[in-house]
Amino acid sequence: MDVFPIIVPFCNKLKSINFYLVRYQDSLILIDAGMDTEDCWHSLQEILKENHYTLTDISAILLTHHHTDHIGLVNRIVSANPIPVYAHPRAIPILQRDSEYIKMREEFFRNLYRRMGCGKFGDRQVIDLHNPILLTEDKKIECEIQVAQDLLFDFDILDIPGHAPDQIAFYNRKCKWLFSGDLLIAHMDINAFIEPYLDGVRTNSLIQQKHSLEKCISLNVEFIFSGHGDILQNPVNILKERIIGLDEKAKIYLNIIKSGISTGNDIARLRFNERYEKQFFNIMSEIIGYLDYLEIQGEINKEMENGIWQYY
Ligand SMILES: [Zn+2]
Repeated sequence: MDVFPIIVPFCNKLKSINFYLVRYQDSLILIDAGMDTEDCWHSLQEILKENHYTLTDISAILLTHHHTDHIGLVNRIVSANPIPVYAHPRAIPILQRDSEYIKMREEFFRNLYRRMGCGKFGDRQVIDLHNPILLTEDKKIECEIQVAQDLLFDFDILDIPGHAPDQIAFYNRKCKWLFSGDLLIAHMDINAFIEPYLDGVRTNSLIQQKHSLEKCISLNVEFIFSGHGDILQNPVNILKERIIGLDEKAKIYLNIIKSGISTGNDIARLRFNERYEKQFFNIMSEIIGYLDYLEIQGEINKEMENGIWQYY
């Protein structure tokens, strides 16, 4: 198995958008598909050309999760070269912008933000929900999507939810290579986004994130091919650091609650000040993630008062 990384510089904290061409036997497989930008498109063409391939040599696309910075070129590639596209079953209605799902998701966040005490400001954010993870109609995947399961092209398909409920990794045992989307980014902490499952139940995204990191440690991976930033060799220490970091942050939230701040909204405003309004979706995701985490560990409890959860 050979890998040809496509690393496209990106001018925000993500540093780069990474996706990967992999040669396996006679097949050329694309793992993730970058963003829908000319930069990503040209970088793909360049790497193909450097290695004496063209677009029509790609025989399948595997997607780690539904976020738009990982699926961007799917429509362009498939319209020029109709090949199968694989993703987790949970990703499929999201990628296809299923109207029932979009409606359910809006309702889910409206209720969630109200219960967190975000009031009218939270209600207004729901209208903007398409923004943060861009579930806009123009990013809809037009082709049929196959379910990625068990073994595909010598990759074990591993569930690694947390960053997204549908996140999967592609693991080649022989090379000990793991293509893991946004499970681990070398230079930054990743967000474990709160999302509904397809049935509307809330994900325990931070707990899932921790379990996914632990799963990755147990594999003894030699290389992690990340969705952003550097490719990581022997990543065990950095994986362990991330788990420790997660528990340290949980202590900060526990102390805030011990000081008497009791709603998700008040915790967010206290900890993030003016960033709260600008990065509402990410910040509330983090707060709710840690509240769930502390609650499941038995460190805190909650009670509903006038429709708002009070944590203590
Ligand atoms: Zn990403």
